[in-house]
Amino acid sequence: MTTARYWLDRPAAPVVPVPRAADFPVEAVRRDFPILHREVDGAPLVWLDNGSTTQKPLTVVQALADFYLTCNSNVHRGAHALARRATDAYEGARAKVAAFLGAAGPEEVVFVRGTTEAVNLVAGSWGEAEVRAGDEILLTELEHHANIVPWQQLAKRRRATLKVVPVDPDGALDLGAFRALLSQRTALLAVTHASNVLGTVPPVREMVALAHRYGARVLVDGAQAVGHFPVDVRDLGADFYVLSGHKMFGPTGIGALYAKREVLAAMRPWQTGGNMIDRVTFGGSTFAGHPHRLEAGTGNIADAVGLGAAVDYLVGMDRDQAEAHERHLAGYACQALARVPGIRQFGAARDRIAVHSFLVGATDPVALAAHLDARGIAVRVGHHCAQPTLAAFGETVVLRASLAFYNTTDEVDALVGAVLEFLDGPVPGQTRPRR
Ligand code: PMP
Repeated sequence: MTTARYWLDRPAAPVVPVPRAADFPVEAVRRDFPILHREVDGAPLVWLDNGSTTQKPLTVVQALADFYLTCNSNVHRGAHALARRATDAYEGARAKVAAFLGAAGPEEVVFVRGTTEAVNLVAGSWGEAEVRAGDEILLTELEHHANIVPWQQLAKRRRATLKVVPVDPDGALDLGAFRALLSQRTALLAVTHASNVLGTVPPVREMVALAHRYGARVLVDGAQAVGHFPVDVRDLGADFYVLSGHKMFGPTGIGALYAKREVLAAMRPWQTGGNMIDRVTFGGSTFAGHPHRLEAGTGNIADAVGLGAAVDYLVGMDRDQAEAHERHLAGYACQALARVPGIRQFGAARDRIAVHSFLVGATDPVALAAHLDARGIAVRVGHHCAQPTLAAFGETVVLRASLAFYNTTDEVDALVGAVLEFLDGPVPGQTRPRR
């Protein structure tokens, strides 16, 4: 069991410099996301729950509608025009995702429902074949349950052992401990590219290189990374990279597993049935090549096309500027939140995304989230599917404001204003904080 280590010695708030405001056309970008302009019960929506899911630009919504309105068909079969168009759109989306990730080619990308399914696929296919009794699977204290539980279950089945790299009080990984935990027994390192609770971005490239020295494979959970900064899987050297479309401005129900060609080639089928076979007789079956061998049944065709549109959207923007804008927002949010009396912010790693988890004195976080909700401000409260991360800080529930490139410093001010209002009680004549 993880023991709480950091609940007494944390400073009230991390002191971080606020990077310069970026030259990012945030108001123009916001116009691409119609939902950001709606009101919730009379208050303008302030969407600070991007860690759970991101909003969708009009181009993604239109791509979904266009697919169903103009070329809906199953793919890879049927000698007719719509089947060809749907197949082109589906395989085109695979090629877009591959290029977006810097993969060697589309055949290295398997469509899945999302990050959770991708990790389960790797555990169920690669893990069942490659992890042996006495092997070790190395995780970190930053992992989402999706990158813990499938490995725990695999370790039980294969009589392997889980090892965990701890976080330090800032929420950075203890790299000394990481080095000490690596050994010839390490079969796999499974590490997040960005923590959904602390915002930490671990030095994944260096970690992959070290793990490879011991012959371990590395799976990187990119669920929180791909929407925030450009990723190049070959530069990282990762064997597996997993992501969810809905956290990168694409649809729900679609995601991707990247795996190196030679690793994929050795992976046996995970689910079986239609679409993944070569020949079937009652005596036995042979299987299609990759990636189709790992995509049994009819896939989520329309949402894959929507994911392709999300990729187009992201590569069409100046991502350096978007990242700089987010860095500014992160620094601004840390300092603005620090004005709240009694606040404890979790996570102050040097490399981080704009994810801000906090508690305010003895205030009930659920009541505070309800107060924010009544003002149109969407944050998440709970364990964020990362109970071991919170346990390291002696907590079970925290509030989390998670920002994306379309958020503004005005929205951060709205959040902080509403938190202060909750602490002070209602301000006469003011029904909601200034935006
Ligand atoms: N990993 C991380 C870091 C996440 O933040 C999430 C979603 N919160 C997941 C994995 C799981 O993603 P999904 O629910 O889309 O499968």
